[in-house]
Formats: sequence, structure tokens, C-alpha cells
Amino acid sequence: MNRLWSPCIRELTPYVPGEQPSISKLIKLNTNENPYGPSPSVLTALNGEVGSSLRLYPDPDAAKLKQAIASYYHVAPSEVFVGNGSDEVLAHAFHAFFIQDQPILFPDITYSFYAVYCRLYGISFTTVALDSDMGIRVGDYQRPCGGIVFANPNAPTGIALPLSEIEKIVRAHPDRVVLVDEAYVDFGAQTAIPLVQKYPNLLLVQTFSKSRSLAGLRVGFAVGHAALIEGLERVKNSFNAYPLDRLAIAGAVAAMEDEDYFQEKRALLMQTRDKLARQLDAMGFQVCPSTTNFLFVRHPDYEATSLMSALRARAILVRHFRQPGIENYLRISIGTEAECASLELALAAILAAA
Ligand SMILES: *Cc1c(COP(=O)(O)O)cnc(C)c1O
Repeated sequence: MNRLWSPCIRELTPYVPGEQPSISKLIKLNTNENPYGPSPSVLTALNGEVGSSLRLYPDPDAAKLKQAIASYYHVAPSEVFVGNGSDEVLAHAFHAFFIQDQPILFPDITYSFYAVYCRLYGISFTTVALDSDMGIRVGDYQRPCGGIVFANPNAPTGIALPLSEIEKIVRAHPDRVVLVDEAYVDFGAQTAIPLVQKYPNLLLVQTFSKSRSLAGLRVGFAVGHAALIEGLERVKNSFNAYPLDRLAIAGAVAAMEDEDYFQEKRALLMQTRDKLARQLDAMGFQVCPSTTNFLFVRHPDYEATSLMSALRARAILVRHFRQPGIENYLRISIGTEAECASLELALAAILAAA
């Protein structure tokens, strides 16, 4: 607390990111980064951009990147917005659409940044409980509200809603924005982007951080009706006209264009995930059905925090959320085959010793 702060800043509860330790030998399964590096063509594109042109500002519209995303998803560039990570895109979307006279709705267990943005922008919100299987019950979202946001697949549960269910929510609120955060959609769920042609109130947000291995480059995007994109552009151009630098634009375009690498690595990751899920299940863990690059698990006989500490002692990091309802769960990011094998061995040893 400082008397020099704006009064509203005193009330904020900022997001706390997962740990990024500087020790090198750790097996890092705590922040859902992709275990594989980005496509080699991304590195070539980045190198090609390193030069004296860095003295010049980047394209404020990142037109090449919008075009690459638009071509990939068969939409118009005017239906694409890009930002400095999807966190920034989400923040602009909250600012642009959710300051309404009614509270917005989101699940009580979801990406914890949503409540942080609400406090930042003075948006009131109501959380909606998940069902007993940790799923989103769409019937609970059929009521008056200022807008709706959820992640699909949801985080940190990893559970996805089918498009038909999402459509029910979108159709029930023609005068409100329904924002679906598809950060993990490439790992086995279905994107709702095709629904954008039918529903001008639907906005999808995706990221290059997970399925395209570029968490360090900070690129995210939104797809929606051109009028929603225009709203986002108004906020963006009132905040930072150049959120994506020259390297980010070049690298993200190259990532979008290397379809073979993308398909190969995401298939490998999903295969590793499904194998680890079976192994953990055999060890007595309850594993939420995942279409993401992580598993959300609990063991009926062991406390999550003690498992986490025991793993940490073996140089393996996983994520725990101190939130009622999920305090006995661990979120384990999918690493390489070898990393997941080490995790399995470590857990087997920990359970045997306990
Ligand atoms: C990782 C993640 C993001 C943020 O991604 P960035 O593009 O790296 O900012 C957004 N939403 C969810 C649900 C995530 O897990």
C-alpha cells in the first residue's frame, strides 16, 4: 500500500503466474508450456527479422498475421484481432464488452484471470458452480447477465463442452457477448470459430503459447464478427498501438503456416497425455477427461499438497490451486515422453513410500 497509488489500485488482487524457476535441471510441468520447441521455420523467420529494420515500428495492424489467421480459419481479416498474448486480448475484451449494468457470469472454477480483469475494470460478476463431474451446465447460464466468459476446454479441469452446448448459451444471449477462451482447443476439442458466421455476439480467443509452442513470444488472437473486432481495436488503439513487435509478427506468421509441424507435435502430445492418464488411473488417481495439454488429477488417499512437495523434492514441478473445491487436485502439464515417464516413476515411488 502506498498513499501515491490511485485509490482503485489498492483494491486489486493481481494474478499470480506459475513459478518460472531459474534452476535448469527441473522437470517443469506447472505452467502448461509446450514441451517441444517451436517449428524450425519460426526460428528462421525470427532470424530473418533481426536487423536494422528493428529501428522501425512494426505494422500497428499486424496485417500479415491477421491474414495468416484468417486464411487458416476461413474468415475475413476484419474478423481477426491480435494482441500481446491472449491475456491482453482477454483484458481488452473485458474492457470493450463487459462493463454493463448487470454482472457477467463465469464458472466458479475456471481461469483465475477473469476475476482479476473484473476488478481491474470495475466489472461485477457472479460465479456459477460446476456440476458434480466438474462440467459446465449450460442451463445455469440461461439467465439475464452482462455477458458470459468461460474457457473451452475449461481450465484447470481440462474438460470440454461440445459445440452444440456452446451454441445454446450463445443463442440465449443475443444482446450480450459470449467470450470463449480456447487456449487449449487444439489438443482435442472443437473450435467454435465456424459459429461466428451465425452469431454476431460470439467471440473466440486463442493463443500461440500452448499448441504453437510460443509462450515466450506473447501472441494471442480473437475471432468474431467484424463489429466486435472493431470494438477491440478501439480499446487497443486507446492503450498501445503496437502490442506485437516485429519478431512476434514474423514468428507467429511462420508458426501458423507450418501445418505439418503443428499436426505432428500436437498428435504426439495427445498420445503422451492419454498414456499418462491411463498410468495415473492405474495408480489410483482420479483423472478428469482431458482435451488439453495437462491432466487435472486427485488421489483419494493422498493430499495434493504433500504429493506436490514430494515431487518438488524430486525436482518435478506441478501446479496446485488453493481454491475451495479443487484444493485436493494437482494440475500436471504434459511434458515429453521422457518427462512424463520420470513423473510416473516419481509418483510410484512416492505412493509406495507413504
Ligand atoms: C495460458 C492461458 C491463457 C494465456 O495465454 P497467453 O496467450 O500466454 O497470455 C489464457 N487462458 C487460459 C485458459 C490459459 O490457460
